[in-house]
Amino acid sequence: MRTDFTAALTRAGKSENLPREDLITLLGADADESKVLFRLADQVRLKYMGNGVHFRGIIEFSNYCSKNCFYCGLRRDNAGLTRYRMEAGEIIAGAREAARLGCRTVVLQSGEDSFYSAEILAGIIFRIKKELDLAVTLSLGDRSKQDYALLREAGADRCLLKHETCDAGLFSDLRPGTSLEGRITRLKWLRELGYQVGSGNMVGLPGQTIETLAGDIILMRDLEVEMAGIGPFIPNKQTPLANASGGTLEMTLKTLAVARIAMPWAHLPSTTSAASIHPSGRVKALKSGANVIMPNMTPQRYRESYCIYPGKLGTADTPAQSYNRAVMAVKDAGRCISEGYGHSLRYQKKYADKNGTWDLGREI
Ligand code: SAM
Ligand code: SF4
Repeated sequence: MRTDFTAALTRAGKSENLPREDLITLLGADADESKVLFRLADQVRLKYMGNGVHFRGIIEFSNYCSKNCFYCGLRRDNAGLTRYRMEAGEIIAGAREAARLGCRTVVLQSGEDSFYSAEILAGIIFRIKKELDLAVTLSLGDRSKQDYALLREAGADRCLLKHETCDAGLFSDLRPGTSLEGRITRLKWLRELGYQVGSGNMVGLPGQTIETLAGDIILMRDLEVEMAGIGPFIPNKQTPLANASGGTLEMTLKTLAVARIAMPWAHLPSTTSAASIHPSGRVKALKSGANVIMPNMTPQRYRESYCIYPGKLGTADTPAQSYNRAVMAVKDAGRCISEGYGHSLRYQKKYADKNGTWDLGREI
């Protein structure tokens, strides 16, 4: 049931524990209501997260994937993709370049590629943590609990595993052979293992409703995720969802804004997918609750092959160009680059309790 928008917004200004009905009302905002919603989300972002934007440089180190997700260009059955794997030394060099450019976090992302055993990945993470001043986030898809444990021991700080959609039927339809339950179990393992946990969802999947999006936010709020990656679904011609209509920027921004209000402490990226569907997507997301940017640090020669969806921002860029592009967006949004690692506030609190220091990061 849709509640009154103004009443829902007033409640949103006072509490993050909004009921489902209010989340649905806010997600259903019309064009004029959206402006007010974005303004409130921006105020909440400022109050809880400050003006700094955290840079998380992403290295897409392999596009091999054993999964067959209906929405993704890296899916196993896509024969139209040149597959590549980066060597350990190349990945570490990429992380070094990310650090040199100014990132304080490197995100190691790939398809689900068992070529990289947990031991190989642990070696790479160990060297990055030893040689470079970087936080490490993993985005590798489904792994065993033992694998995640070894990678955590090697020094990985965070793990990103998007739940994609809270609709269990849709999840299994779109990700054959997998279940939402299995994904949530993994998110709970990650928490137990001491990772900072990231989840997220796509906006505009076929069959998704506003109620589903409200459910996505509630699921992430219940899991107390430290990061939520919310971006539009962009149809890819080389997938079974070639003819789907995809997500709009407007709906993506509304979902982001409501997520900020419902999870004021969470890190919310201004996603590359939002930037890819609209020239101002990145800046608009920063003004609707986002406080993170993930500039692409993948070497230029591999980028065209990491084609999750068409029109991906910065496909022809070098890492330095991608970094500068992100800096421009931060400036255009009237914000500053955070110098801190951008650890979750909960993690920092724990660290501060143990060591008496509190790294909120200096803003520049
Ligand atoms: N394989 C890992 C996984 O699935 O978690 C990491 C790589 S995967 C390419 C990273 C994210 O890309 C997914 O979590 C999904 O949300 C997003 N993605 C895949 N296909 C997409 C599409 N067509 N449009 C927008 N986002 C997409
Ligand atoms: Fe593979 Fe991840 Fe793409 Fe699914 S979303 S096909 S697991 S890379």
